Amino acid sequence: MTTISKRIHYLAILGPSGGGKGTQADLLARRFHYHHLSVGAILRQEIAQGTANGKKLIGYVDRGLLVPDDLVATIFFRYVKQALRPGFILDGFPRTFGQSQLLQDFLSSLKISLELVVLLELSDEVIINRRRQAIAAGRRFQPGREDDQEQILRRRLYEYRENIKPIKNFYRRQGILVTIDGNRPINAIQEDIRKLIENGQ
Ligand code: AMP
Repeated sequence: MTTISKRIHYLAILGPSGGGKGTQADLLARRFHYHHLSVGAILRQEIAQGTANGKKLIGYVDRGLLVPDDLVATIFFRYVKQALRPGFILDGFPRTFGQSQLLQDFLSSLKISLELVVLLELSDEVIINRRRQAIAAGRRFQPGREDDQEQILRRRLYEYRENIKPIKNFYRRQGILVTIDGNRPINAIQEDIRKLIENGQ
């Protein structure tokens, strides 16, 4: 099995919800032995365990609202700190510009920094069609009317696009942002990211 790249130990994968970043992060984690830190999964775990922080999260996560930056960072960074060796892939963080600043400060306090940020770019139509197909195949995500769900999805995609702009500029200025066409098959996307990691970007 391939061992972790000598050059890239700390990366983040960003993209819209339903855009396949979790799948890509999972495959990369297996291939390169990264810790896969999925914010959504960590928050759900905190809720399931009924921790003090978990109780504060319920109203947000239940309604699909973004958790306030300070709260999500406090929870998430505990996991990041445990994942420095051999390296980590952040899945779903940062989602706001504020989070990108908190992350930078936190990582620099540990004397490390992100080396690569992969942004999966997908059109709204591709995401909405995938969601429709999943619903048609009987894989419902949430109870409720399908057209209501589609409205909610469109609103979230709009919010996502607004939030991602300053994050994208921030990492682009640092020279660590790579955008990848996410409207393609899983394997093609995986190969592109694998090459970036193996070539140290
Ligand atoms: P996900 O599994 O990525 O869809 O995330 C599930 C839920 O967790 C979201 O609907 C938000 O309520 C919350 N969440 C996940 N990531 C973040 C983040 N970076 N910032 C704030 N809230 C988040």
